[in-house]
Amino acid sequence: MHKSVLNLVNIQNEIKLNFKRVPNIIAVSKTFSSIQILPLLDHGHINFGENKVQEALDKWVDLKSKYKNIKLHMIGKLQTNKVKNAISLFDYIHSIDNKKLAEKIANEQQKQNKSIKFFIQVNIGDEEQKSGISKKDLREFLSFCKNLKLNIVGLMCIPPISSNSDNYFNEMKILNKELNLQELSMGMSSDYLNATRNSSTYLRIGSKIFGNRV
Ligand SMILES: *Cc1c(COP(=O)(O)O)cnc(C)c1O
Repeated sequence: MHKSVLNLVNIQNEIKLNFKRVPNIIAVSKTFSSIQILPLLDHGHINFGENKVQEALDKWVDLKSKYKNIKLHMIGKLQTNKVKNAISLFDYIHSIDNKKLAEKIANEQQKQNKSIKFFIQVNIGDEEQKSGISKKDLREFLSFCKNLKLNIVGLMCIPPISSNSDNYFNEMKILNKELNLQELSMGMSSDYLNATRNSSTYLRIGSKIFGNRV
């Protein structure tokens, strides 16, 4: 078995040992080449994540035409001038966090006659430099997105680094429930067990599957 596939299976088994349920795992392939992604595709893995539109186009236009079941997730910050390509390539966008972007996306979906799925990114640690909508604006922003007919499936967060992620994940779980959303995008290589404990449904795991990025 290829190393990346072995890593994925080990993570799935570790989660199974600790919890009743295994969330979806998004294999975050940013910086890794098509050749490095192929073993996971041949293993039948479905969910992959990228954080840059151009890099994703370069790799995934081809791969998606061969592996038609793939679900591709945009997990990085999305500039409005990249929305057109993002809507044509991705199945999920995890990083909606402002009204201008939401409007641009709604507009582009209409043009392309497409409807993909979205997460609203929440700045759960109230960090000045971080992307994400603040907690106080979240409810209003969700209605705004729903009025635009965006299919918002859940909330996404990246908790503050070097913090105990447990409290933030728990807060996300409560927010998601209050807003009646089904999916929850949280948990990375260092904290996916905490995220699973707090009802995450989409883990975004990169280095623990593919190895360290250079
Ligand atoms: C890179 C990235 C990940 C994966 O990070 P790892 O620590 O390598 O698992 C998850 N989420 C986002 C938003 C990322 O940019």
